[in-house]
Amino acid sequence: MSKAELALDAVDILAVDDEPVNLLLLSGLLRRQGINLVTARSGFEALKLLPRHDFALILMDVMMPGMDGFTTAERIRADEATRHIPIIFVTAISKEQRHVFKGYEAGAVDYLIKPFEHDILKSKVQVFVDMHRQRQALQRTGAALEQTVAELRTSALALTDSRARFQSLFTSMFNGFTLCSGVDAPGRPLDQWRIEEINPSMEQILERPREELLGRTMGEVLPDLEGYWSDFAGQVARSGQPAQFEGYMAELKRWLRISAYVPGPNLIALVAEDLTARHQAEETLHERTFQDPLTGLANRALFLNRLDQAMERSRRRLNYLYAVLFLDLDSFKPINSSLGYAAGDQVLRTVAERIQGVARGLDTVARCGPDEFGLILEELKNSGEALRAARRINKALALPLEMNGHQLHFTASVGVVLGPADYAQPEELLQDAGLAMEQARALGGGKVKVFKWAMRKRAQYALTVNQSLHNALERKEFRLHYQPIFNLAGNTLAGFEALIRWQVEDRLVPPNDFIPHAEQTGLIVPIGAWALMQACLQAAQWERDFALPKQFSIAVNLSAKQFAQPDLVRHLTRVLEETGLAPERLKIEITETLVMQNPESMVQKLRSLRELGAKVSIDDFGTGYSSLAYLQRFPINTLKVDRSFVSDLDAFENLVIVRTIVSLAHNLGLDVVAEGIETERQRAFLAELTCECGQGYLFSRPLPEDRALEMLGVCCPKQGPARGD
Ligand code: C2E
Ligand code: MG
Ligand code: MG
Repeated sequence: MSKAELALDAVDILAVDDEPVNLLLLSGLLRRQGINLVTARSGFEALKLLPRHDFALILMDVMMPGMDGFTTAERIRADEATRHIPIIFVTAISKEQRHVFKGYEAGAVDYLIKPFEHDILKSKVQVFVDMHRQRQALQRTGAALEQTVAELRTSALALTDSRARFQSLFTSMFNGFTLCSGVDAPGRPLDQWRIEEINPSMEQILERPREELLGRTMGEVLPDLEGYWSDFAGQVARSGQPAQFEGYMAELKRWLRISAYVPGPNLIALVAEDLTARHQAEETLHERTFQDPLTGLANRALFLNRLDQAMERSRRRLNYLYAVLFLDLDSFKPINSSLGYAAGDQVLRTVAERIQGVARGLDTVARCGPDEFGLILEELKNSGEALRAARRINKALALPLEMNGHQLHFTASVGVVLGPADYAQPEELLQDAGLAMEQARALGGGKVKVFKWAMRKRAQYALTVNQSLHNALERKEFRLHYQPIFNLAGNTLAGFEALIRWQVEDRLVPPNDFIPHAEQTGLIVPIGAWALMQACLQAAQWERDFALPKQFSIAVNLSAKQFAQPDLVRHLTRVLEETGLAPERLKIEITETLVMQNPESMVQKLRSLRELGAKVSIDDFGTGYSSLAYLQRFPINTLKVDRSFVSDLDAFENLVIVRTIVSLAHNLGLDVVAEGIETERQRAFLAELTCECGQGYLFSRPLPEDRALEMLGVCCPKQGPARGD
């Protein structure tokens, strides 16, 4: 049969889905490919259709009422007549890897996730259609061959008679054919059988021309043939019963299905069907499902599968130690944008090689995300080995990598989970490895962190805080407390610092417990805007109600994110206008670390604040690394000495630091506020160092609004007519 004839055959494909729409979609997609799509609305209907067709492929929905796709597949596999039909699961649920593996157990050759790419469906289906057509052709040739062999079997003469027919069949056969003779030795091993006849397909399979094969023994042609082939042929020769055997022939690097017959006394006919292409197609499908195409490493699905196995081993074996490393490349993302995607891909391939260089044969290395890698280290002697491996990886990554004339260096943040660990699912373990990795990354890159349960608690806490912070503004749960600041020389009130609190039921949550989360999520911008507005409203009211001293100010803390807002100055202007507060009464506090992050752009911003008339104070001064050159250029008013120096002024170096800060500030024309004064001794020290102002528990804790009012009433009462006129 010619190829053209074969191509005309319509091939039956069965689609099983309980949704008529899906079946319609599939028939629309596959109609053009010379395919006869037979549809079934349930597993039962599918099973009924099977005996009536010769299906090349079954496209099977997984979720169906009655009998689901997996069960239907198992039934198909259980029937000898239908077990060979390839099944592709079409599923929307396969992100749950368990279902994928269940599908493979049930005999799926592949799966497609809904919604799927139409081209992928078409090309996958085409592979099976082609394979089916080939198989049909082989069957037809095989049937003709069988007929010939039957004739041969009737008489030895027939062998010569039908040789001409046999010969023409030979040359056109897809299958390889060999006729071997063994002189009165049906029990002899295959290697002593001599080749009497051979067809062109068999020449191709044996990769040698006919002249080199005829008259040779099988042992001479295939000296390293695996024992199981010999056993199989010997069995057929002895029993006279035809049989089939499928296996890998290493010497020929081929998967073969051999059908053996005994056509006459001391003869054996071997028909070889080359299955290598099919096996390769299956392997490619396997690779596509379980391999990362860029690096050739295992993908996340395979990684989770292997992890599951490692967890299972550690459940069965006492003291089985393993470890999971989760790596995230530090600063990989700019590579794609600056050097291009091709360079990014090359970097990832090199990184994959370097990581694999550290792993041992029994370990699994996988690419789990764009620039994330996972390692399972098995059979560890102790947990220290895992940490050493992590450090070796970072050492390997740190080697310079030449890329388009740039010398690149990489590090990875590594999270480690040590097994045995009590997890039900591999996904949970991987998630914790990811958490540890994030902690490592927060330390600044190139670091390794081992997972601890506290990390998960922290992450869960962060999640709840973030969720409730979202609602806190709407529910008006924030409060401002005001901590007074005093002039150290005359003990007069110099102002207040507004400090935010979060009222959760009857508890006041301090800022350090939620400001960092608000910073991370960006919620600090609206929260900070609220605090600013509230503090200005309050101070404007005080201005009206009390005789505030000329230098009196209200200090408001601004976070880095707020300060980076492009409309900061406009926003401040509006707040001052709306509240009616005199600009010089407002003192913005920003931390030293923030200021020094990008001092050049800071100068600009600070200048516009000064033009506005507001004052600026550098908070927590002494904890960052201020450059004197910049400090000189910053248009600021105050340095706030960090509490850590004030709390231990007895330590000589702290005393020196504070003295230096004060004199530096005075030289620059700035005044100094000391934070955290708790004792009289500290106050006296600071006064002696000519520090202008102080703030701390010695004077007062931060006060709620009513208590701040009381203090103002005492310190700055309005003379003359009653307050509030
Ligand atoms: P900060 O700006 O340095 O504020 C001073 C902190 O020191 C306050 O803590 C205050 O209660 C505390 N403190 C004052 N005197 C003493 C003392 O004598 N001893 C001790 N041990 N502590 C003292 P608080 O209110 O918990 O605020 C912590 C930080 O939260 C503030 O540090 C500030 O950075 C931030 N913060 C507070 N309110 C806001 C706000 O509205 N916006 C922003 N972005 N940050 C804020
Ligand atoms: Mg402050
Ligand atoms: Mg401070």
